[in-house]
Amino acid sequence: MSKYTITLIPGDGIGPDVTNAARKVLDAAGVGIEWEVVEAGEAVIEKYGTPLPDQVLESIRRNKVALKGPLTTPVGTGFRSVNVALRKELDLYANVRPVRNLPRVPSRYENVDIVVVRENTEDLYAGIEHMVGKNAAESIKIITREASERIVRFAFELARKEGRRKVTAGHKANIMKCTDGLFLEVAREVAKDYPDIEFEDRIIDALCMKLVQSPSDFDVLVLPNLYGDIVSDLCAGLVGGLGVAPGANIGDEIAVFEPVHGSAPKYAGMDKVDPLATILSGVMMLKHLGEFEAADRILKAIEEVLVEGKHLTYDLGGTAKTSEMAAAIAARL
Ligand code: NAD
Repeated sequence: MSKYTITLIPGDGIGPDVTNAARKVLDAAGVGIEWEVVEAGEAVIEKYGTPLPDQVLESIRRNKVALKGPLTTPVGTGFRSVNVALRKELDLYANVRPVRNLPRVPSRYENVDIVVVRENTEDLYAGIEHMVGKNAAESIKIITREASERIVRFAFELARKEGRRKVTAGHKANIMKCTDGLFLEVAREVAKDYPDIEFEDRIIDALCMKLVQSPSDFDVLVLPNLYGDIVSDLCAGLVGGLGVAPGANIGDEIAVFEPVHGSAPKYAGMDKVDPLATILSGVMMLKHLGEFEAADRILKAIEEVLVEGKHLTYDLGGTAKTSEMAAAIAARL
């Protein structure tokens, strides 16, 4: 009997390669997962007439937990992002992206251990935009007290739970006095409820500079949606790139785990890219389920494979295929 039924969305592009790899590793850890595979994304539009068929949302609502590969979003024109739709439909308001150095993963920095907490439901990502005549376009940035309070509180609670020392809020309240001003005001108010955790705020451009100058100064970052999107890729770059950056989208009841990276179409079907971002997303999922022992075993197996250096994908300086690296990790479990 399986202990958990979990929704698995293979996704577009490199999605099937990396989710297969993660599935193999999680299965080898033996926690008893039954995978309910549902299709979404560009690849299923012809079959279902939509990139987000109803059964995908139904499956996630039923199982409460999902592991997801990246989904392609056309740039400039075409359908709206399925990733954004999923987060909004399921009210997955917190996007959590931890970044830390892994052994032997090439990086310019040491001692990076940051968790990016990104608001996931509003801001410019609400996608409320339109043309004003032929030669101008307008996009509306929505920031609410409710969503800001929820995400800042989430960041402080995470800091407390993980024994972290500081929360830094990023904003551009000097220019966007209403929207970012509200976010900052709420962050300062919420911070008063957590006197045990240091709080600071930084203007987003200065925060970016400080992050590349001295990333070990930072601990938990809390950011509105768009800055969070950009800064989490920046942070992935601090520890070796998108190949090793995991993520989670968390709501009050439902959680969807996925790598930070996208569908990297040029590598689709090549069994070439790094599976670690998705495997580490699976590790976050196990911790969410309370399976700490299995999560630790997988982390140890990953570290052993990295240190041994024989089964690494191209981004880590090796020549192994996605499936070979996953098999090497699974073999240690
Ligand atoms: P991307 O993250 O797909 O790829 C950018 C580059 O990063 C790749 O070309 C590759 O060099 C590297 N990379 C990404 N994943 C890697 C891995 N696992 N191992 C090694 N290297 C890796 O970004 P993009 O090219 O801007 O976007 C492609 C598509 O993905 C777009 O349609 C975009 O909308 C979508 N996307 C989806 C998600 C999601 O599903 N959550 C997130 C980001 C982008």
